[in-house]
Amino acid sequence: MDQKAEMLRNLPKVDECLLELSDFINQQGVPLRIAKKAVQTTIDRVRKGILAGGDITLPVDRSAWKSLFVDQIGQLQRSRFRRVINGTGVVIHTNLGRSLLSTAALEQLIAGAGYYSNLEFDLHSGKRGSRYALVEDIICDLAGAEAALVVNNNAAAVLIALDTIARGREVIVSRGELVEIGGSFRIPDVMAKSGAELVEVGATNRTHLYDYERAITERTGLLLRVHTSNFRMIGFTAAVPAQELVALGRTKGLPVMEDLGSGSLIDLERFGLPAEPTVQEVLAAGVDLVTFSGDKLLGGPQAGVIVGRKDLVDQIKRNPLNRALRIDKFTLASLEGTLRAYYDESLACKQIPTLRMIGESQSTIKKRASRLLRRIGKKSPDGCLFSLVPTVSRVGGGALPEYGLDSWAVQLQPVDVPVSTLERDFRRLQIPLIGRVEHDRFHIDMRTIQDSEIALLADQLVEYFSLVC
Ligand SMILES: *Cc1c(COP(=O)(O)O)cnc(C)c1O
Repeated sequence: MDQKAEMLRNLPKVDECLLELSDFINQQGVPLRIAKKAVQTTIDRVRKGILAGGDITLPVDRSAWKSLFVDQIGQLQRSRFRRVINGTGVVIHTNLGRSLLSTAALEQLIAGAGYYSNLEFDLHSGKRGSRYALVEDIICDLAGAEAALVVNNNAAAVLIALDTIARGREVIVSRGELVEIGGSFRIPDVMAKSGAELVEVGATNRTHLYDYERAITERTGLLLRVHTSNFRMIGFTAAVPAQELVALGRTKGLPVMEDLGSGSLIDLERFGLPAEPTVQEVLAAGVDLVTFSGDKLLGGPQAGVIVGRKDLVDQIKRNPLNRALRIDKFTLASLEGTLRAYYDESLACKQIPTLRMIGESQSTIKKRASRLLRRIGKKSPDGCLFSLVPTVSRVGGGALPEYGLDSWAVQLQPVDVPVSTLERDFRRLQIPLIGRVEHDRFHIDMRTIQDSEIALLADQLVEYFSLVC
């Protein structure tokens, strides 16, 4: 008798399993659809295992099956969108949600989400209002801009700006700036979608003013500069400064736009970092339109900000795409909460988590690491050596890719399990911990750990090692 056929025949029936689970289902209030899906998925998985051959151990009895079902129910009921602990030391980590909101931004967000609001209602006149008016003047104040518009993200900002200003016309860009920024944002592709025609000038490493000048025709609609974001060229390079491109644009009657990417409103040199042009500086250089992200160095919600000349921003506002790319009330509420802090720069640096983490002193980070070690040490878990080591964090979000921020990490050296197991298991903790594996050690960079997470993190680690060992 074929052993496989025998095993398949012995698989339990879904309805019978559900009956067996009924007490559990009732006690836990598990929706029947979830229970059924869990049972089906589990049996299917075992069936596939049998069909694929190989050494498969079947659950030995009903209670073994039941524990598989209960596990699966747990997995299906757990929220997919999970909070995680960022121990990578990358402050603006795109895969982990980029910027954390400030308390002020969070409060605005919660109020805006749970209550009705004046999203498009003018409380003064009692008439319909504009959602954009709620943040536009604040952005203008802070950036020193004539006009501003906020859309879904910076990719959308670039798209709608190109579509409005340069559809059916040529846009001149340096070859050194035709970059791809992770997550499939490529300038040539966005350009194609906008209906503008890309004209590349210069060489990969060097572009001169005369390259732009020679490429200008009667079909040219825009001169575009793009921040190279997470990409740097070193060595024999040359790029045209904004002022020179602006002067050329003025002579030829052409607008100049800059996609600034991260777009900071404050000078990073105050943190001892290399200078990155601020939004204010780029506007002051005469650039007509500047676009940047809301959730990179600005430290707010996902959004794309467009600032610049009023006639151009007004044109963009009237583009029907604007309705499709518009921001929602959550973004608007939390963006306002974020922006207000910038009226006092030192306040912004304390209150906006992204800026606070970038500017955090080494001694503060070291103290935080010591607190974590002390808490873990009190429970003295076996199976792992913990130590304090210097490390290097990153800003992330395409800002200063080659620049490291000196930091401190808690280093874990497991005794009985390989570090890859640790890395995997930590991703499966109640609140997953994402860290860095270096030289066969697991590192938790304490720059991106919040003070409020220390107790939780220590408890999870102690519990993990008490179970593993
Ligand atoms: C990040 C970035 C973008 C995309 O911004 P999103 O807000 O992620 O859409 C576009 N251009 C540059 C230069 C960037 O750095």
